[in-house]
Amino acid sequence: MKTIGILGSTGSIGTQSLDVAQKQGYTVSVLTAGSNDSLLEEQIRRFHPKKAALLDEEKAKELRVRVADTNTVVLGGEEGICECAADRDADVVINAIVGLAGLRPTLAVLQAGKDLALANKESLVAGGYLVKEAAAQHHAAILPVDSEHSAIFQCLQGKPANAALKKIILTASGGPFFGKKKEELRHVTVQQALKHPNWSMGAKITVDSATMFNKGLELIEAVRLFEVAPEQVDIVVHRESIVHSLVMYDDNSVIAQLGLPDMRIPIQYALTYPARYPSPVGELDLAACASLSFAGPDEETFPCIGLCRHAVKAGGLYPAAVNSANEEANLLFRQGKIGFLEIPERIQRAAANLRNYERFSLDDIYAVDEQMRQAVRAAGQ
Ligand code: NAD
Ligand code: MG
Repeated sequence: MKTIGILGSTGSIGTQSLDVAQKQGYTVSVLTAGSNDSLLEEQIRRFHPKKAALLDEEKAKELRVRVADTNTVVLGGEEGICECAADRDADVVINAIVGLAGLRPTLAVLQAGKDLALANKESLVAGGYLVKEAAAQHHAAILPVDSEHSAIFQCLQGKPANAALKKIILTASGGPFFGKKKEELRHVTVQQALKHPNWSMGAKITVDSATMFNKGLELIEAVRLFEVAPEQVDIVVHRESIVHSLVMYDDNSVIAQLGLPDMRIPIQYALTYPARYPSPVGELDLAACASLSFAGPDEETFPCIGLCRHAVKAGGLYPAAVNSANEEANLLFRQGKIGFLEIPERIQRAAANLRNYERFSLDDIYAVDEQMRQAVRAAGQ
């Protein structure tokens, strides 16, 4: 029986992770959230973690009083979250925090020598070699939770050392605006962007799916996780979200992973790896699917994929820069302050002024974060 920690436990991936943990009978040692104190309280009462943390210090204080009848210690702030991340009892910690806010916790998990089940792709994209080096140095594994990367990871199981991997083929649902042309997207609303055809997810990643910046982040994530060149990663639009990704070997043989679009499959695999156990998710019925379709991405209408490909090729701080610029532009769009097409425009303009370094520190990433967010806000003035 495993002991697991969940960072970002009140979100979409966090709550599904708790569902998997409960069905597997796992012990939950730590839980953390941003500001949702009422759901965190419910989770504390149900899962009895040793420690819990809220980013919001005021709410953490109030929660501490409310759960004084339990054995859970409530911590506050980013420091409290990182203390939970480094929990010594956990065998594996899931990082399901959204955005760059997940970077310090990702490093805290790895530096404690714990295996990291990674949903928070932004920390790997922005942190780059800092994250990879922390994992190597402390002999900690990074197990992908993102469905595409879990699929690739599964397709690579049993790969002999001398079998050359030729390509990774990432599938993309295409989001709610697939098939539309640029001009049709000028006036789309936040509500329309938040209607994903196949997946129910947090607001930030749902908008990233609509702009396809999410697929750009996943391209960078694949380059980092599987140590391939950006040119080895292809993207194909697959509307049904049944084939979660594929790999091609040197002999042009292609291996795919398929399943119903339900994140509890990749979450569970990251937690039980290398074992497999019965899942709460239903069986895939291929005959009921009838047909599976594939098409090339329209990178003119969705320029975010190209922005990310350029960033990973440029290397250094570029991936961190486009990630931060996107976080700000995505937020401004959700707040109704900018239009949908302004998202890639503002990211491109902000990142154009980056002073890049090949080797960088954590402080450099936060300095770039501040600079990019300001540049994105100022771009409209
Ligand atoms: P979400 O918004 O539903 O949940 C985010 C969680 O992080 C919440 O618990 C929230 O309280 C916490 N949080 C928010 N801001 C924080 C901060 N500044 N510091 C600490 N905690 C904070 O998001 P989600 O959809 O669950 O996505 C989480 C991560 O998983 C993202 O990186 C996303 O890209 C990735 N991911 C999500 C899905 C999905 O199906 N939802 C699929 C693949 C990958
Ligand atoms: Mg994904």
